[in-house]
Amino acid sequence: MNVTTYFTSIGHAANTILEGMAVTFSHLFRKPITFQYPDRIDRPLSTTLPDRYRGLLEVQIDICTGCRRCERVCPIACIALDFGKNPETKAREMTRFDIDLGKCMFCGLCVEECKLNSTGAIRHTREFEGTTEVLGALTFRFIEPAKPRPLYKAPKDKSEIPLGPYGPWAREARERAQRDNPALVRERLARWREERERAS
Ligand code: SF4
Ligand code: SF4
Repeated sequence: MNVTTYFTSIGHAANTILEGMAVTFSHLFRKPITFQYPDRIDRPLSTTLPDRYRGLLEVQIDICTGCRRCERVCPIACIALDFGKNPETKAREMTRFDIDLGKCMFCGLCVEECKLNSTGAIRHTREFEGTTEVLGALTFRFIEPAKPRPLYKAPKDKSEIPLGPYGPWAREARERAQRDNPALVRERLARWREERERAS
């Protein structure tokens, strides 16, 4: 490399740096298009989401027939249902309805299947906050372990199905998942043991 090329390269490098700095500096005087979440927004963020936004899944358990269509159609086995028999009435009841949202790809197949062929109990909400310390705690639990639910008998006329508001079931399941999910409990216990060993 001769001296001229050498100094030309230095000139180009300096020019590039200055151009970059000029772009960066110009942002100081522009109105920001981002905003601080969650404490500096003037309306709930969920109201700003697009109409077809697919948020966290929820199941309105009181209109779930336990038909397992959603479970069967899910391509990656996110949904798990279990059933038992009520010891007194001998009626079939649902003992588990879990959705592993850590695996879910939000394809919406379960929602479509339930809407078309069942009651519409499973649906996407506009909820999106699912942050957790442990991946396993993203398994949303729509039935409390000790509280089995009776199966809903759907009327022939779908317009009679009492569809409730979207959101509360997802929020409740998320709280349950983060409160008493076995994965979370195991993780916390392991961490507590590690800290105790380190301290002793
Ligand atoms: S398809 Fe709908 S009604 Fe059937 S088990 Fe799933 S959520 Fe319940
Ligand atoms: S949205 Fe798709 S991946 Fe997620 S639970 Fe439903 S069918 Fe499975």
